[in-house]
Amino acid sequence: MKLFTYSPGGTEIEEEKWTKDKPFVKLPPPSIAVIPLSQHTGAPNVPAVKIGDHVKIGMVIGSTSAPVSAPVHASVSGDVIAIEDRLCPAGNKIQSIIIKNDFKEEEAEFEHVDSIENFTPEELIKKIRDAGIVGLGGAAFPTSIKLSPPKNKVIETVIGNGAECEAYLTTDYRVMIESPDEIINGILIELKILNAKRGIIAVEDNKIDAADLLAKKIAERNLEDKIEVVLLKTKYPQGGEKQLIKAVLGREVPSGGLPLDVGTVVQNVGTLKAISEAIFYGKPLIERGITISGTAIKNPGNYIVRIGTQVSEIIDKVGGLNKKLRKLVFGGPMTGVAQSSLEVPVLKGTSGILFFGEESLEMAPEEESPCIRCASCVDSCPIGLLPVFLDHAYRRNDMKLAESLYAVDCIECGACSFVCPAKRHLTENIKKAKQSILKQRKIEAAKQAAFEKLKQKRLQEAKEKEAKK
Ligand code: SF4
Ligand code: SF4
Repeated sequence: MKLFTYSPGGTEIEEEKWTKDKPFVKLPPPSIAVIPLSQHTGAPNVPAVKIGDHVKIGMVIGSTSAPVSAPVHASVSGDVIAIEDRLCPAGNKIQSIIIKNDFKEEEAEFEHVDSIENFTPEELIKKIRDAGIVGLGGAAFPTSIKLSPPKNKVIETVIGNGAECEAYLTTDYRVMIESPDEIINGILIELKILNAKRGIIAVEDNKIDAADLLAKKIAERNLEDKIEVVLLKTKYPQGGEKQLIKAVLGREVPSGGLPLDVGTVVQNVGTLKAISEAIFYGKPLIERGITISGTAIKNPGNYIVRIGTQVSEIIDKVGGLNKKLRKLVFGGPMTGVAQSSLEVPVLKGTSGILFFGEESLEMAPEEESPCIRCASCVDSCPIGLLPVFLDHAYRRNDMKLAESLYAVDCIECGACSFVCPAKRHLTENIKKAKQSILKQRKIEAAKQAAFEKLKQKRLQEAKEKEAKK
């Protein structure tokens, strides 16, 4: 079978996918659920409940009418005991609904349907939005928005992203092995919504059994004319949207552009399953599969965890730690975020939690030494950027230079830092440069808008004055 890949850049990483053969196990629900009102890219929700309210599983507890958003739902039944700011995995505090579980497991009513035939694309999009579906690969972008491209954009292809190129993480693999039909249903729903002709499920060749199973299911359902499975070369970061599109379709998403600019929508396989469950079972996003792994956890595995479960409860429920915890990471080791507290909750975008002890490679000191000009960082960058020069620009606080070197196109994959023999903090610095440039652009856009408004006002005043003469 042909192997698809992208160029330039990318690197090989130690996979450490120890939990690959561990089927999903449902963790018992938490005693306290901490559900942040903003778990997505976009406008935050406002509380739809108050302290003392009784809630059932699946009830909306936070929403907003802002278009780019996704409501949040109760993941346990019980009483709302607080609405307050809580520390979240990104390191910021977010207003959260705190529910004390009564362990009665009362559920709100979910509407089941057998077929999507009689639904319009708009109705399907509304169901996806109402279920609070966001991208489960980590970005947590509201799925209903991704499926509502501007009218002038024609979407030809939907790509199911089964690359899962980060080390340790095996949730997408388990979803492909355990729920292939739901993934296929998710693709069919998206093809209908977008009026797209072609679905492709892309899987790295270290998960060939998952690719074979999906292909078999597609054949059994006579869907080969609509959906195909392609194998990708195992390479980091093969799962990045732009890299995936380049590998599978040979198309380049322009600088600052989106997949829809090249007629494509990319959806993580876990999200496709969640879409299928939202449409056919009316199930909101109240739980998700995550990989729990690392050297310091007694029972690494793949677990279905309710949204809002705090790490401290997860540790207890999976059998505890086997050594002193020195580093806790949400996400994978390349792009994940180190945590400072065990009280942070699992969010919709949490794909894995890694627990490391003292001896782990991940604990190795990251002291920088001078750049030896080896250009490994340049060779590894999947976007074709020049990380070494971007890093210099940041250190000299020359944001104009960083901007001219396309800092904003960095996908923060961490490949450059990973390959750098001098352990230069390249990704960290490029990310800061990118944030600074984006902030400056926002300030300039606001200034420009204020100037335009003033100009219009003055013109109007001048017209009125003239009319009075
Ligand atoms: S972190 Fe940014 S600059 Fe570094 S390799 Fe990835 S995309 Fe390139
Ligand atoms: S990989 Fe590190 S040492 Fe090599 S050129 Fe890039 S920054 Fe310098």
